Amino acid sequence: MAGENPSTLLSLRLAGTWRVGQRFWSKVQKSDGCWIWTGAVSSNGYGEFTIVHGTVVTSHRLSYFLAGGTLSAGQEVLHTCDNYLCVRPDHLYPGTQAENMRDWRERGVRSWSKRHPTAKLTADDVRVIRARLKEGEMHRLIASDFGVCTSCISHIARGARWSSIA
Ligand SMILES: [Zn+2]
Repeated sequence: MAGENPSTLLSLRLAGTWRVGQRFWSKVQKSDGCWIWTGAVSSNGYGEFTIVHGTVVTSHRLSYFLAGGTLSAGQEVLHTCDNYLCVRPDHLYPGTQAENMRDWRERGVRSWSKRHPTAKLTADDVRVIRARLKEGEMHRLIASDFGVCTSCISHIARGARWSSIA
């Protein structure tokens, strides 16, 4: 395996050794747009998936590898949609962090709220959102009313964020 970079080796090991894919995709909410990771989320906003006890990878990265993607040295798995929790393979592309910063600038500040999906919600907003969720309203409708992304509403629905608000 000389010349293989660690990422490639990881993907090969994953594909060959564990039934990772099946378990991974059972935690993904697919839609016409982004495919949202519904499993654990790290403090930096990325999805996390435990391959085996003690080995945790970011979910979008794993999705990219499971779809057959590889990385060159210095490259990372980036999003075309700026949605950290999106794991849809065709929303993922390889690039360097510098390219990522440049892409963000080109896409403009409107993507900011997606990268910090709950940043602009107040505690009162969250209470209203929870009430509307109880009524069974579609996440997408609530999200557009509050100007946040659908995954943000999904997070609140699962109690993954704002759990301190009663
Ligand atoms: Zn996406």
